[in-house]
Amino acid sequence: MSRVYNFSAGPATLPTEVLQQAQAEMLDWNGSGMSVMEMSHRGKDYMSIAAKAEADLRQLMTIPDNYKVLFLQGGASSQFAMVPINLLNGKKSADYLLTGQWSKKAVAEAKRYCDVNLIADTTDSKFTTVPDEVSLNFNADAAYVHYTPNETIVGVEFPYIPGTCDVPGDVPLVADMSSAILSRQIDVSKFGVIYAGAQKNIGPAGLTIVIVRDDLIGYADANMPVMFDYKTFADHDSMYNTPPAYSWYLAGLVFAWGLKQGGMAAIEAINKRKAEKLYQAIDDSAFYSNPVDINCRSWMNVPFILANADLDASFIEQAATNGLVTLKGHRSIGGMRASIYNAMPEAGVDALISFMQEFERTQA
Ligand SMILES: *Cc1c(COP(=O)(O)O)cnc(C)c1O
Repeated sequence: MSRVYNFSAGPATLPTEVLQQAQAEMLDWNGSGMSVMEMSHRGKDYMSIAAKAEADLRQLMTIPDNYKVLFLQGGASSQFAMVPINLLNGKKSADYLLTGQWSKKAVAEAKRYCDVNLIADTTDSKFTTVPDEVSLNFNADAAYVHYTPNETIVGVEFPYIPGTCDVPGDVPLVADMSSAILSRQIDVSKFGVIYAGAQKNIGPAGLTIVIVRDDLIGYADANMPVMFDYKTFADHDSMYNTPPAYSWYLAGLVFAWGLKQGGMAAIEAINKRKAEKLYQAIDDSAFYSNPVDINCRSWMNVPFILANADLDASFIEQAATNGLVTLKGHRSIGGMRASIYNAMPEAGVDALISFMQEFERTQA
């Protein structure tokens, strides 16, 4: 067997141990004589898988009891609509922080449902900065505040939680954590809604996790589809209809793996180390650069540009020969991007850094 170091932004690399366990259980889960893919989601075997996944995620993130964890489909992109549908509750506007391509999409979708107050817009910096915390002017009559803690494409991450509010009745904070969830410790009680597509730091595509404070559930407009109402899923343990059962199971294996790593404190320490050494290697060289302000560089997505773009193709080709793949940058910014989610071992980051240094040496 040969596994590469896969730096894909998503769907992304999964822990090898998790894939091995899934492989071992593929044909016969726990003596059931069938694959998890073939089980009724209402049977007691699958119910135990689903419940354990939720319990492990709750333990990993220390999710308070007054939050529901929903296992949905539709991707983070569906949440761009579900958030206004569920949280507007008669209000006319919401506050949005526009700090990258994903928040831009969230804003565009929200505009279909309400007035959007852009309380931050970093377009002019080409999304390489985050707003100063003191510059944010929240609107008291906004239904909620939405932001994207980690913008996956440019690799810009908030070093703070904007306008924290944890009291029901306050304006709730909503976070698209698709590429940041489980990367470091967070205080869930600061948020009204946290959502994330699974395919970055959780598991396979097809599953979307929504963590929602229970007092915010039950206010979707009556004429909206039931499938877009958080209450539909909260009332049925995410099994109103057939859930993305296999992705949910694999996510559960990833959560258990996370606990085995030592939980979020241990994972955070590893992620910090991985990111710091990669940025250090970039900053130490005139051959590579990263455009993002130092105070808000992403731990998960690390773009870097070669001083001479003519070398991009041979960098990518030689990296692949060395087992380092999917490093091509997003089409909107070019260069390279190394996504180093939890499942990327530190040895993968070390191998990338060694390769970058060797490539630079041989080109000089
Ligand atoms: C990947 C990503 C999305 C899109 O997720 P889908 O599950 O494909 O809809 C949205 N927001 C962020 C921050 C992302 O990284």
